[in-house]
Amino acid sequence: MHFTGRTWRPPYEAHSVIIQATSGCTYGKCRFCNLYKDEGFRMSSLEEFEEDLEEIKRYQPYARRVFWTGANPFAMSYENLKLRALTVRDYLIKCQSMAMFASIRDIRDKEVWQLRKLRAMGINGLSIGTESGDDDTLALAGKGYTAADILEQCRKLDEAGIEYYFVYMTGLAGKGGGYRNAVNSAKLFSQLNPYFISVDSLTLFSDTELYRMVREGTFTPAGEKERLQELQTFIQNLRIRTHLFANSVSNFYPITAYLPKEREAVVSELQHVIDTVSEEDMEVYRKKLKGLG
Ligand code: SF4
Repeated sequence: MHFTGRTWRPPYEAHSVIIQATSGCTYGKCRFCNLYKDEGFRMSSLEEFEEDLEEIKRYQPYARRVFWTGANPFAMSYENLKLRALTVRDYLIKCQSMAMFASIRDIRDKEVWQLRKLRAMGINGLSIGTESGDDDTLALAGKGYTAADILEQCRKLDEAGIEYYFVYMTGLAGKGGGYRNAVNSAKLFSQLNPYFISVDSLTLFSDTELYRMVREGTFTPAGEKERLQELQTFIQNLRIRTHLFANSVSNFYPITAYLPKEREAVVSELQHVIDTVSEEDMEVYRKKLKGLG
């Protein structure tokens, strides 16, 4: 298999077959991210892609879901996505869906009719690292798009019937900003249809821009309890039926919830943690983290 550089797939794609479609990230400017610092963006050639499919076919000829790796394979043009999706189906005849990471920017250059066709070819399951739906937080994080962009582009996915998943990151707004970020993000996400939302919590790594800002005194990180309160606020303000996963290692206290059914239970559970665990113990946990969770 042609895996180069850092290979990253979300925990919920653990049962998918993985294949490298691209490597690196087309953007590379998010201030909290150190994932692809030393890698340029590269699209795997069709030859490489086919060789990998040949190998997968030998071991998992009946694979039903394939995850394309790379920070944002959806950055490929419609034609390139189409060619690769059809090629997957040539090799893996039982494949029902192909999932990948996508940025809001990657959807911009695609028309709804193209998205519909990609959906019909099996591309279904875009993990979108929105991180927030609050304009100030998006700007602070250097995401390069606004809440209005998220709304406009994801509505196109809704129209085309492509399933997508959001990421929300607690702590990203900095000290004192969690409440505003949670309310505005929940308001935005509630106008869309993310199949589920996964939650991470900001962990500062020394090779990031945000870390440099902390040292310069231009960014003050949120405390751990503020982040849990932010998560409570986010959950309380979400007005859609969705599944929330806040169980990656970057979350001090892992929770999952079906919303709105489990809203009250999970908010109380978080309150119990806030009331019984000290800020210092929570900080010790975060200092031990070695990579983005
Ligand atoms: S968060 Fe995603 S889009 Fe932003 S720089 Fe990192 S890999 Fe690229």
